[in-house]
Amino acid sequence: MQPSVLELMQQMNHEQVVFCQDPHTGLNAIIAIHNTTLGPSLGGTRLWNYSSYDEALVDALRLSRGMTYKSAISGLNLGGGKAVLIGDASKLKSEAFWRRYGKFVNSLNGKYITAEDVNTSKGDMEYIGMETKFVTGKPEYMGGSGDPSPVTAYGVYMGMKAAAKKAFGTDVLTGKKIMVQGAGNVGQYLMGYLVAEDAKVFTCDINEDKLKDVKAKYPSVEVVDGSQVFELEYDIYAPCALGATVNTESINQMKCPVIAGGANNQLADENVHGPMLVEKGIIYVPDFLINAGGIINISIEIDGYNKERAMSTVAKIYDRTLTIFDIAEKEGIHTQLAAMHMAEKRIAQIANLRVGI
Ligand code: NAD
Repeated sequence: MQPSVLELMQQMNHEQVVFCQDPHTGLNAIIAIHNTTLGPSLGGTRLWNYSSYDEALVDALRLSRGMTYKSAISGLNLGGGKAVLIGDASKLKSEAFWRRYGKFVNSLNGKYITAEDVNTSKGDMEYIGMETKFVTGKPEYMGGSGDPSPVTAYGVYMGMKAAAKKAFGTDVLTGKKIMVQGAGNVGQYLMGYLVAEDAKVFTCDINEDKLKDVKAKYPSVEVVDGSQVFELEYDIYAPCALGATVNTESINQMKCPVIAGGANNQLADENVHGPMLVEKGIIYVPDFLINAGGIINISIEIDGYNKERAMSTVAKIYDRTLTIFDIAEKEGIHTQLAAMHMAEKRIAQIANLRVGI
């Protein structure tokens, strides 16, 4: 039997889950608030045609928990939240739809702050912003931080350099063979940094137009067939498409000493694949640590956006990655677990701080 909503919340330790529906606009939303110890929960709004409400709920619960870890390890005073809207983006999107959703977000009085995610844009954030101030990722002309992808890519580049230092004794990526899987927003900005450093970059994507973009921007990048990704040898594998690409089958095939990429939920099952990577001697930079550039960028928007401050804060991903490698080694655990422990420790320490005066 499928566990109830409350049982799922208990399993993953969620504070609150809010269901919203509106027959006039066709809005069906689940807002999951995982943990607000460090501050208001912040996470994007995903609009997706889920095959069932149960699937949407589990996605909201998993993603919001991921946001708690991401903000906590990045030193942000934010908790973890995420919203999923259920349905076909091409049919649902309208001014009224987004404003109705904005009113629901507003009803939480700032306990949840929203942002862009899959199938949501800066323009959608603008509509939401007509009904609530608890929205980030607004366009730059509105004082927002704009597209988070370039900043996310910079953070991935920093984490990748730290991993190279650990694996190869130098963080210089010149001449290193790097596979960037997924030539979307983050993937393309990442390739920009890598090409500038004269790395030997490979990519693949299921969307031919993205590959054409890449060839036009960076002629030196070599396009490979997606089915061959794990057959070839690289120094670094950078997953920048979907989650769960690091699984039993791919790890068995992998011929690279480092995994450092921007995708969310890279490990199909952290309890199985974290230890498996250690056994195979593959250095893995935890996803929620390395791809935190976007949330760091947005957190700076809350205080009044400043690009320089955003980039210098994101650059700290380099040192944080090295710290996690050290902790993992000392404690004999895999890096994802070490990163989770570090995030949980900060949450527990700040929770204690708030007891009393
Ligand atoms: P995007 O949609 O722009 O890019 C993803 C790309 O992956 C697309 O071009 C898509 O065609 C491609 N793709 C999908 N399936 C593929 C497959 N099987 N093989 C190869 N390519 C495939 O998204 P994005 O904003 O670049 O985000 C990429 C990843 O990074 C996602 O997992 C996202 O959740 C994560 N992420 C993004 C940000 C951000 O700031 N954009 C922040 C944190 C995490």
